Amino acid sequence: MANKIVILGSLNLDSILQISRLPQPGETLSMTGKNSAPGGKGANQAVAAARAGGAQTAFIGRVGQDETGNFLLETLKKDHIETDHIVVDHQKDTGQAYILLQTTTGQNSILVYGGANQNLSLTDVKNAHSIIKEADFLISQFETPVEVTTAAFVYAHNVGVKTILNPAPALDQIPAQLLAATDLICPNETEAQALSNVSVTDLNSMRQAAAFFQKQGCARTIITLGARGAYIYDNQHKIDQFVDAFKVKAVDTTAAGDTFIGALGAVLKTDFSNLVAATLYANRASSLAVQKLGAQPSIPTADQVQSYFN
Ligand code: ATP
Repeated sequence: MANKIVILGSLNLDSILQISRLPQPGETLSMTGKNSAPGGKGANQAVAAARAGGAQTAFIGRVGQDETGNFLLETLKKDHIETDHIVVDHQKDTGQAYILLQTTTGQNSILVYGGANQNLSLTDVKNAHSIIKEADFLISQFETPVEVTTAAFVYAHNVGVKTILNPAPALDQIPAQLLAATDLICPNETEAQALSNVSVTDLNSMRQAAAFFQKQGCARTIITLGARGAYIYDNQHKIDQFVDAFKVKAVDTTAAGDTFIGALGAVLKTDFSNLVAATLYANRASSLAVQKLGAQPSIPTADQVQSYFN
């Protein structure tokens, strides 16, 4: 049976600005190309979950009352994602991100306009209690208000639904209530460092960061490490190990982390007993995503992952 996933998070239109290097202050630099694609951490993770073996995926979020919002809703529907709990906001327009993509390295720098994402409310969460209650996993990030994610996670935790938190973009601190209601936290190195105050470099420091999260009530940590793969810590199943990434030529790492998290949620068992195997699948899916341009266009289906690794 495919997992039922609910994602609470952001929907953005990404403008991808291709450049050979970052401009200096005051400098004008020609772009080598540009295009746009649907994005937003929440929406990317929903698409990744839906494409990974047909998880039943529903979304809680907000778009503006504009063409971009309509476009993003239609895009999610094409991946069979339930959009009934995406509210059309009448005050703010749809979120937008400007991705400065360095074509020489595949690395990106991102500027985000939150827009309607910032108006996601506690009422929106209350109105979505019925779908959260039915889910196997609730997944969220920090491109929507943290108090809204907290309310959703506390509700999910109380009704026995497992929660996965991707604490991105990094905050200095996570509300204690939110961490206590999180079953698995999944930061990248920078986020792990910002939250735990541990300089995350090697196995020992990763253990220390995971111990920090565990002390606050979150028993499992996966730290994603870009081209190095991921570190997994699970106190319950006594897991403390790396899972290597696959060696590929990265052209655009946008949504690597989102692909990882969506794919992970889609294949993970709710008792977390297959955490290592699920991480391996997430590594595979995201290694395909980094080989293509754009956020959602680069996210692979389960069939694509299977045929690539056959
Ligand atoms: P982003 O913010 O760009 O979406 P992130 O910083 O949240 O990404 P990363 O840790 O960079 O997340 O990457 C997530 C996963 O994607 C890694 O754990 C790895 O499996 C895969 N990955 C990322 N970069 C590469 C790469 N260059 N080669 C192979 N796999 C990669």
